[in-house]
Amino acid sequence: MTRQVVLLGATGSIGQSTLEVLRRNPSKFTLVAAAACSNVEAMVSLAEEFKPQIVALADVQAASELKDRLGALKLRTEVASGLDGVLEVAAAAEGAVAVAAIVGAGGLKPILEAAGRGCTIALANKEALVMSGQLFFAEVQRGKARVLPVDSEHSAIFQSLPESAQQTLGHCDLEGCGVHRILLTGSGGPFLHTPLEELPHVTPQQALRHPNWSMGPKITVDSATMMNKGLEYIEARYLFNAAPEQVEVLIHPQSVVHSMVSYQDGAVLAQLGLPDMKTPIARALAYPGRVASGVAPLNFAALGELSFCAPDLRRFPCLKLAMEASVTGQSATTALNAANEQAVAAFLAGKLPFDGICNLCRQVVESLYRHETYSLEDIMSLDAEARTLALRLLEKC
Ligand code: NDP
Ligand code: MG
Repeated sequence: MTRQVVLLGATGSIGQSTLEVLRRNPSKFTLVAAAACSNVEAMVSLAEEFKPQIVALADVQAASELKDRLGALKLRTEVASGLDGVLEVAAAAEGAVAVAAIVGAGGLKPILEAAGRGCTIALANKEALVMSGQLFFAEVQRGKARVLPVDSEHSAIFQSLPESAQQTLGHCDLEGCGVHRILLTGSGGPFLHTPLEELPHVTPQQALRHPNWSMGPKITVDSATMMNKGLEYIEARYLFNAAPEQVEVLIHPQSVVHSMVSYQDGAVLAQLGLPDMKTPIARALAYPGRVASGVAPLNFAALGELSFCAPDLRRFPCLKLAMEASVTGQSATTALNAANEQAVAAFLAGKLPFDGICNLCRQVVESLYRHETYSLEDIMSLDAEARTLALRLLEKC
Protein backbone atom coordinates (compact mmCIF):
# COMPACT_ATOMS: atom_id res chain seq x y z
CA MET A 1 0.00 0.00 0.00
CA THR A 2 1.30 3.48 -0.77
CA ARG A 3 1.70 6.09 1.97
CA GLN A 4 -0.55 9.10 1.50
CA VAL A 5 1.12 12.52 1.59
CA VAL A 6 -0.38 15.97 2.21
CA LEU A 7 1.92 18.83 1.22
CA LEU A 8 1.50 22.19 2.95
CA GLY A 9 3.72 24.77 1.21
CA ALA A 10 3.91 22.74 -2.01
CA THR A 11 5.33 25.48 -4.25
CA GLY A 12 8.30 26.48 -2.07
CA SER A 13 11.81 25.14 -1.79
CA ILE A 14 10.92 22.32 0.65
CA GLY A 15 7.67 21.65 -1.22
CA GLN A 16 9.49 21.18 -4.54
CA SER A 17 12.17 18.99 -2.94
CA THR A 18 9.37 16.86 -1.47
CA LEU A 19 7.84 16.47 -4.93
CA GLU A 20 11.22 15.28 -6.23
CA VAL A 21 11.31 12.54 -3.58
CA LEU A 22 7.71 11.52 -4.43
CA ARG A 23 8.55 11.49 -8.15
CA ARG A 24 11.40 9.08 -7.48
CA ASN A 25 9.19 6.74 -5.43
CA PRO A 26 5.81 6.53 -7.20
CA SER A 27 5.03 3.06 -5.86
CA LYS A 28 5.58 4.16 -2.24
CA PHE A 29 3.81 7.54 -1.94
CA THR A 30 0.63 9.16 -3.25
CA LEU A 31 0.13 12.92 -3.06
CA VAL A 32 -3.49 13.38 -1.96
CA ALA A 33 -3.63 17.10 -1.15
CA ALA A 34 -1.47 20.23 -1.49
CA ALA A 35 -1.64 23.86 -0.42
CA ALA A 36 0.31 27.06 -1.10
CA CYS A 37 -0.28 30.81 -1.06
CA SER A 38 -0.55 32.29 -4.57
CA ASN A 39 1.66 30.45 -7.07
CA VAL A 40 -0.88 29.34 -9.69
CA GLU A 41 1.65 28.05 -12.27
CA ALA A 42 3.39 25.70 -9.84
CA MET A 43 0.03 24.40 -8.58
CA VAL A 44 -1.22 23.73 -12.13
CA SER A 45 1.83 21.62 -12.95
CA LEU A 46 1.61 19.82 -9.59
CA ALA A 47 -2.08 19.00 -10.23
CA GLU A 48 -1.35 17.79 -13.78
CA GLU A 49 1.49 15.56 -12.64
CA PHE A 50 0.27 14.18 -9.30
CA LYS A 51 -3.54 14.48 -9.65
CA PRO A 52 -4.25 15.06 -5.94
CA GLN A 53 -7.84 14.98 -4.67
CA ILE A 54 -7.72 18.58 -3.43
CA VAL A 55 -5.46 21.63 -3.69
CA ALA A 56 -5.79 25.04 -2.04
CA LEU A 57 -4.32 28.52 -2.38
CA ALA A 58 -4.55 30.94 0.54
CA ASP A 59 -4.88 33.85 -1.88
CA VAL A 60 -8.55 33.85 -2.93
CA GLN A 61 -8.02 35.46 -6.33
CA ALA A 62 -5.20 33.08 -7.20
CA ALA A 63 -7.39 30.15 -6.11
CA SER A 64 -10.15 31.28 -8.46
CA GLU A 65 -7.66 31.48 -11.35
CA LEU A 66 -6.37 28.01 -10.43
CA LYS A 67 -9.90 26.63 -10.49
CA ASP A 68 -10.43 27.96 -14.03
CA ARG A 69 -7.08 26.57 -15.18
CA LEU A 70 -7.71 23.08 -13.77
CA GLY A 71 -11.27 23.13 -15.15
CA ALA A 72 -9.91 23.90 -18.64
CA LEU A 73 -7.55 20.94 -18.28
CA LYS A 74 -10.51 18.74 -17.25
CA LEU A 75 -8.76 17.70 -14.05
CA ARG A 76 -10.96 16.37 -11.26
CA THR A 77 -8.85 17.94 -8.49
CA GLU A 78 -11.02 20.02 -6.15
CA VAL A 79 -9.79 23.61 -5.57
CA ALA A 80 -10.28 25.28 -2.18
CA SER A 81 -9.41 28.86 -1.29
CA GLY A 82 -8.38 31.14 1.55
CA LEU A 83 -7.25 30.03 5.00
CA ASP A 84 -10.31 27.76 5.19
CA GLY A 85 -9.20 26.08 1.99
CA VAL A 86 -5.70 25.51 3.36
CA LEU A 87 -7.26 24.07 6.53
CA GLU A 88 -9.38 21.75 4.37
CA VAL A 89 -6.17 20.46 2.78
CA ALA A 90 -4.63 20.02 6.24
CA ALA A 91 -7.73 18.08 7.35
CA ALA A 92 -7.06 15.58 4.55
CA ALA A 93 -4.00 14.52 6.54
CA GLU A 94 -5.92 11.93 8.59
CA GLY A 95 -3.89 8.73 8.35
CA ALA A 96 -1.34 10.44 6.07
CA VAL A 97 2.04 12.14 6.38
CA ALA A 98 1.59 15.92 6.37
CA VAL A 99 4.72 17.75 5.22
CA ALA A 100 4.54 21.11 7.04
CA ALA A 101 6.49 23.43 4.71
CA ILE A 102 4.55 26.69 4.77
CA VAL A 103 6.95 29.49 5.66
CA GLY A 104 6.39 31.45 8.87
CA ALA A 105 3.51 31.90 11.29
CA GLY A 106 0.96 31.28 8.52
CA GLY A 107 1.77 27.58 8.89
CA LEU A 108 0.64 27.26 12.50
CA LYS A 109 -3.14 26.82 12.11
CA PRO A 110 -2.81 24.27 9.27
CA ILE A 111 -0.32 22.26 11.37
CA LEU A 112 -2.61 22.29 14.40
CA GLU A 113 -5.48 21.18 12.14
CA ALA A 114 -3.38 18.30 10.81
CA ALA A 115 -2.19 17.38 14.32
CA GLY A 116 -5.79 17.17 15.50
CA ARG A 117 -6.39 14.57 12.76
CA GLY A 118 -3.84 12.17 14.19
CA CYS A 119 -1.45 12.20 11.24
CA THR A 120 2.33 12.09 11.05
CA ILE A 121 3.69 15.63 10.79
CA ALA A 122 6.95 15.94 8.87
CA LEU A 123 7.92 19.30 10.32
CA ALA A 124 9.95 21.80 8.29
CA ASN A 125 8.06 24.92 9.45
CA LYS A 126 10.13 25.70 12.56
CA GLU A 127 8.43 29.09 13.06
CA ALA A 128 5.18 27.33 13.98
CA LEU A 129 6.90 25.38 16.74
CA VAL A 130 8.92 28.39 17.93
CA MET A 131 5.77 30.47 18.34
CA SER A 132 3.64 27.82 20.02
CA GLY A 133 5.89 25.22 21.73
CA GLN A 134 3.82 23.55 24.44
CA LEU A 135 0.52 24.18 22.64
CA PHE A 136 1.94 22.45 19.56
CA PHE A 137 2.82 19.31 21.49
CA ALA A 138 -0.42 19.40 23.51
CA GLU A 139 -2.32 19.32 20.20
CA VAL A 140 -0.08 16.54 18.88
CA GLN A 141 -0.83 14.47 21.98
CA ARG A 142 -4.55 15.25 21.93
CA GLY A 143 -4.84 14.22 18.27
CA LYS A 144 -2.54 11.17 18.78
CA ALA A 145 -0.35 12.57 16.01
CA ARG A 146 3.38 12.09 15.71
CA VAL A 147 6.11 14.54 14.76
CA LEU A 148 9.14 13.78 12.61
CA PRO A 149 11.66 16.59 12.11
CA VAL A 150 12.57 17.67 8.57
CA ASP A 151 14.89 20.55 9.50
CA SER A 152 18.22 18.93 8.61
CA GLU A 153 19.85 19.49 12.02
CA HIS A 154 16.86 18.14 13.94
CA SER A 155 16.59 15.20 11.58
CA ALA A 156 20.26 14.48 12.30
CA ILE A 157 19.73 14.76 16.07
CA PHE A 158 16.63 12.55 15.82
CA GLN A 159 18.59 9.93 13.90
CA SER A 160 21.41 10.05 16.47
CA LEU A 161 19.04 9.49 19.42
CA PRO A 162 17.84 6.08 20.66
CA GLU A 163 14.40 4.83 19.62
CA SER A 164 12.93 5.57 23.06
CA ALA A 165 13.63 9.28 22.49
CA GLN A 166 12.43 9.16 18.87
CA GLN A 167 9.10 7.80 20.10
CA THR A 168 8.60 10.53 22.70
CA LEU A 169 9.41 13.80 20.94
CA GLY A 170 8.32 16.82 22.96
CA HIS A 171 8.76 15.09 26.31
CA CYS A 172 11.74 12.74 25.96
CA ASP A 173 14.16 12.18 28.81
CA LEU A 174 17.58 13.03 27.36
CA GLU A 175 19.47 12.39 30.57
CA GLY A 176 17.73 9.03 31.01
CA CYS A 177 18.91 8.15 27.47
CA GLY A 178 22.50 8.83 28.54
CA VAL A 179 22.74 12.04 26.52
CA HIS A 180 25.28 14.62 27.62
CA ARG A 181 24.48 17.27 25.05
CA ILE A 182 23.03 17.96 21.63
CA LEU A 183 25.59 19.55 19.27
CA LEU A 184 23.63 21.77 16.87
CA THR A 185 25.76 22.67 13.85
CA GLY A 186 25.40 25.61 11.46
CA SER A 187 27.46 26.82 8.52
CA GLY A 188 27.76 30.43 9.71
CA GLY A 189 26.26 31.61 6.41
CA PRO A 190 27.73 34.05 3.88
CA PHE A 191 29.08 36.51 6.47
CA LEU A 192 31.15 34.18 8.62
CA HIS A 193 34.35 36.00 7.71
CA THR A 194 33.04 39.44 6.65
CA PRO A 195 34.79 42.24 8.62
CA LEU A 196 32.44 43.26 11.46
CA GLU A 197 32.37 46.92 10.37
CA GLU A 198 31.02 45.89 6.94
CA LEU A 199 28.04 43.95 8.33
CA PRO A 200 25.66 46.93 8.67
CA HIS A 201 26.08 47.64 4.94
CA VAL A 202 25.61 44.16 3.43
CA THR A 203 22.81 43.98 0.85
CA PRO A 204 19.87 41.57 0.50
CA GLN A 205 21.56 40.22 -2.64
CA GLN A 206 24.68 39.30 -0.60
CA ALA A 207 22.59 37.84 2.22
CA LEU A 208 20.66 35.68 -0.25
CA ARG A 209 23.88 34.02 -1.47
CA HIS A 210 24.17 31.09 0.95
CA PRO A 211 27.43 29.16 0.54
CA ASN A 212 25.96 25.64 0.93
CA TRP A 213 22.16 25.46 0.91
CA SER A 214 19.53 26.46 -1.66
CA MET A 215 16.43 27.63 0.29
CA GLY A 216 13.55 30.11 0.29
CA PRO A 217 14.43 33.82 0.86
CA LYS A 218 13.24 34.12 4.48
CA ILE A 219 15.30 31.23 5.86
CA THR A 220 18.28 32.29 3.73
CA VAL A 221 18.33 35.72 5.41
CA ASP A 222 17.81 33.97 8.77
CA SER A 223 20.91 31.90 7.99
CA ALA A 224 22.93 35.05 7.26
CA THR A 225 21.99 36.60 10.63
CA MET A 226 22.13 33.16 12.30
CA MET A 227 18.64 33.87 13.61
CA ASN A 228 17.95 30.57 11.88
CA LYS A 229 20.30 28.79 14.29
CA GLY A 230 18.63 30.65 17.15
CA LEU A 231 15.19 29.48 16.00
CA GLU A 232 16.66 25.99 15.65
CA TYR A 233 18.03 26.17 19.20
CA ILE A 234 14.46 26.92 20.37
CA GLU A 235 13.12 24.20 18.06
CA ALA A 236 15.61 21.68 19.45
CA ARG A 237 14.69 22.54 23.02
CA TYR A 238 10.99 21.93 22.31
CA LEU A 239 11.44 18.83 20.14
CA PHE A 240 13.89 17.06 22.41
CA ASN A 241 12.71 18.49 25.74
CA ALA A 242 16.22 19.84 26.30
CA ALA A 243 17.42 22.17 29.06
CA PRO A 244 19.29 25.27 27.81
CA GLU A 245 22.68 23.78 28.69
CA GLN A 246 21.82 20.53 26.86
CA VAL A 247 22.09 22.25 23.44
CA GLU A 248 25.41 23.62 22.21
CA VAL A 249 25.68 25.54 18.93
CA LEU A 250 28.75 24.89 16.79
CA ILE A 251 29.90 26.51 13.56
CA HIS A 252 30.69 23.92 10.89
CA PRO A 253 31.25 25.78 7.59
CA GLN A 254 31.13 22.70 5.32
CA SER A 255 27.54 21.65 6.28
CA VAL A 256 28.39 17.95 6.05
CA VAL A 257 27.85 16.96 9.68
CA HIS A 258 24.21 17.94 10.08
CA SER A 259 24.32 17.79 13.92
CA MET A 260 25.42 15.37 16.62
CA VAL A 261 24.51 13.89 19.99
CA SER A 262 27.21 13.65 22.61
CA TYR A 263 26.64 10.88 25.20
CA GLN A 264 27.69 10.65 28.84
CA ASP A 265 30.05 7.75 28.08
CA GLY A 266 32.09 9.93 25.71
CA ALA A 267 30.59 8.62 22.46
CA VAL A 268 29.35 11.10 19.86
CA LEU A 269 26.82 10.03 17.21
CA ALA A 270 26.33 12.12 14.09
CA GLN A 271 24.44 12.09 10.81
CA LEU A 272 26.39 13.18 7.73
CA GLY A 273 25.45 13.82 4.14
CA LEU A 274 25.53 16.35 1.32
CA PRO A 275 23.65 19.57 2.13
CA ASP A 276 20.41 18.67 0.33
CA MET A 277 16.99 18.77 2.01
CA LYS A 278 15.81 15.76 0.01
CA THR A 279 17.67 13.52 2.49
CA PRO A 280 15.82 14.62 5.68
CA ILE A 281 12.54 14.86 3.70
CA ALA A 282 12.95 11.26 2.48
CA ARG A 283 13.83 10.19 6.02
CA ALA A 284 10.62 11.64 7.42
CA LEU A 285 8.41 10.37 4.57
CA ALA A 286 9.69 6.80 4.79
CA TYR A 287 10.28 6.54 8.57
CA PRO A 288 11.10 4.04 10.00
CA GLY A 289 12.26 2.83 6.59
CA ARG A 290 14.42 4.56 4.00
CA VAL A 291 13.88 5.33 0.33
CA ALA A 292 16.07 6.75 -2.44
CA SER A 293 16.07 10.55 -2.37
CA GLY A 294 18.21 11.30 -5.41
CA VAL A 295 21.00 12.71 -3.24
CA ALA A 296 24.45 11.37 -4.12
CA PRO A 297 26.38 9.53 -1.39
CA LEU A 298 29.17 11.37 0.36
CA ASN A 299 32.56 10.91 -1.25
CA PHE A 300 34.80 11.00 1.82
CA ALA A 301 38.02 10.76 -0.18
CA ALA A 302 37.12 14.02 -1.97
CA LEU A 303 35.66 15.82 1.05
CA GLY A 304 38.70 17.64 2.37
CA GLU A 305 38.71 19.24 5.77
CA LEU A 306 35.76 19.29 8.16
CA SER A 307 36.13 22.08 10.72
CA PHE A 308 34.25 23.24 13.82
CA CYS A 309 34.40 26.27 16.10
CA ALA A 310 32.23 28.12 18.63
CA PRO A 311 30.03 30.92 17.23
CA ASP A 312 31.12 34.53 17.78
CA LEU A 313 28.04 36.09 19.43
CA ARG A 314 29.26 39.64 18.61
CA ARG A 315 29.08 38.75 14.94
CA PHE A 316 25.76 36.93 15.36
CA PRO A 317 23.73 38.86 17.97
CA CYS A 318 20.47 37.33 16.63
CA LEU A 319 21.68 33.92 17.78
CA LYS A 320 22.33 35.29 21.25
CA LEU A 321 18.95 37.03 21.33
CA ALA A 322 17.09 33.87 20.35
CA MET A 323 18.94 31.74 22.91
CA GLU A 324 18.07 34.28 25.60
CA ALA A 325 14.42 34.39 24.48
CA SER A 326 14.30 30.60 24.70
CA VAL A 327 15.35 30.79 28.35
CA THR A 328 12.85 33.61 29.05
CA GLY A 329 9.98 31.49 27.76
CA GLN A 330 7.11 31.11 25.31
CA SER A 331 5.97 34.73 25.14
CA ALA A 332 9.50 35.88 24.26
CA THR A 333 9.91 33.29 21.49
CA THR A 334 6.46 34.12 20.03
CA ALA A 335 7.29 37.85 19.97
CA LEU A 336 10.77 37.18 18.58
CA ASN A 337 9.46 35.07 15.72
CA ALA A 338 6.86 37.67 14.70
CA ALA A 339 9.35 40.57 14.92
CA ASN A 340 11.91 38.64 12.90
CA GLU A 341 9.43 37.87 10.11
CA GLN A 342 8.63 41.59 9.83
CA ALA A 343 12.30 42.59 10.06
CA VAL A 344 13.41 40.14 7.38
CA ALA A 345 10.64 41.32 5.03
CA ALA A 346 11.74 44.94 5.63
CA PHE A 347 15.41 44.06 5.03
CA LEU A 348 14.54 42.29 1.76
CA ALA A 349 12.49 45.34 0.71
CA GLY A 350 15.51 47.60 1.33
CA LYS A 351 13.81 49.34 4.27
CA LEU A 352 16.04 48.10 7.08
CA PRO A 353 19.82 47.63 7.26
CA PHE A 354 21.17 44.18 8.05
CA ASP A 355 22.09 45.02 11.66
CA GLY A 356 18.64 46.60 12.09
CA ILE A 357 17.12 43.10 12.06
CA CYS A 358 18.56 42.27 15.48
CA ASN A 359 17.90 45.72 16.95
CA LEU A 360 14.25 45.61 15.89
CA CYS A 361 13.76 42.09 17.25
CA ARG A 362 15.38 43.02 20.56
CA GLN A 363 13.17 46.09 21.02
CA VAL A 364 10.01 44.10 20.32
CA VAL A 365 10.95 41.21 22.63
CA GLU A 366 11.90 43.57 25.46
CA SER A 367 8.74 45.68 25.10
CA LEU A 368 6.34 42.74 24.97
CA TYR A 369 7.61 40.64 27.83
CA ARG A 370 4.69 39.11 29.64
CA HIS A 371 3.78 36.01 31.59
CA GLU A 372 3.57 32.73 29.80
CA THR A 373 1.01 32.41 27.03
CA TYR A 374 -0.24 28.96 26.14
CA SER A 375 -3.63 29.23 24.41
CA LEU A 376 -3.90 29.71 20.66
CA GLU A 377 -5.83 32.96 21.18
CA ASP A 378 -3.10 34.38 23.44
CA ILE A 379 -0.36 33.31 21.04
CA MET A 380 -2.11 34.79 18.00
CA SER A 381 -2.80 38.04 19.84
CA LEU A 382 0.81 38.35 21.00
CA ASP A 383 1.97 37.55 17.44
CA ALA A 384 -0.26 40.34 16.08
CA GLU A 385 0.86 42.79 18.76
CA ALA A 386 4.53 42.08 18.03
CA ARG A 387 3.98 42.66 14.29
CA THR A 388 2.19 45.94 14.91
CA LEU A 389 4.96 47.15 17.19
CA ALA A 390 7.62 46.05 14.70
CA LEU A 391 5.88 47.97 11.89
CA ARG A 392 5.60 51.05 14.11
CA LEU A 393 9.32 50.88 14.92
CA LEU A 394 10.12 50.36 11.24
CA GLU A 395 8.37 53.61 10.36
CA LYS A 396 10.94 55.40 12.49
CA CYS A 397 13.91 53.77 10.71
P1 NDP B 1 9.67 29.14 0.51
O1 NDP B 1 9.55 30.59 0.68
O2 NDP B 1 10.49 28.59 -0.59
O3 NDP B 1 8.18 28.49 0.36
C1 NDP B 1 7.14 28.84 1.21
C2 NDP B 1 5.89 28.05 0.88
O4 NDP B 1 4.84 28.45 1.77
C3 NDP B 1 5.36 28.33 -0.53
O5 NDP B 1 4.77 27.15 -1.03
C4 NDP B 1 4.29 29.40 -0.29
O6 NDP B 1 3.33 29.48 -1.32
C5 NDP B 1 3.70 28.85 1.01
N1 NDP B 1 2.93 29.81 1.79
C6 NDP B 1 3.34 31.01 2.27
N2 NDP B 1 2.37 31.58 3.00
C7 NDP B 1 1.31 30.72 2.97
C8 NDP B 1 0.02 30.75 3.52
N3 NDP B 1 -0.42 31.78 4.25
N4 NDP B 1 -0.80 29.69 3.31
C9 NDP B 1 -0.38 28.64 2.56
N5 NDP B 1 0.85 28.56 2.02
C10 NDP B 1 1.67 29.59 2.22
O7 NDP B 1 10.14 28.56 1.91
P2 NDP B 1 11.04 27.27 2.22
O8 NDP B 1 10.52 26.09 1.44
O9 NDP B 1 12.46 27.62 2.13
O10 NDP B 1 10.73 27.05 3.77
C11 NDP B 1 9.51 26.51 4.21
C12 NDP B 1 9.63 26.22 5.70
O11 NDP B 1 10.60 25.19 5.89
C13 NDP B 1 10.11 27.42 6.53
O12 NDP B 1 9.44 27.41 7.76
C14 NDP B 1 11.60 27.16 6.73
O13 NDP B 1 12.08 27.71 7.93
C15 NDP B 1 11.61 25.64 6.78
N6 NDP B 1 12.88 25.05 6.37
C16 NDP B 1 13.33 25.25 5.09
C17 NDP B 1 14.53 24.72 4.66
C18 NDP B 1 14.99 24.86 3.25
O14 NDP B 1 16.01 24.26 2.89
N7 NDP B 1 14.31 25.61 2.40
C19 NDP B 1 15.39 23.97 5.60
C20 NDP B 1 14.80 23.79 6.91
C21 NDP B 1 13.60 24.33 7.27
P3 NDP B 1 3.55 30.46 -2.62
O15 NDP B 1 4.72 29.89 -3.37
O16 NDP B 1 2.27 30.33 -3.36
O17 NDP B 1 3.83 31.83 -2.08
MG1 MG C 1 18.14 23.78 9.49
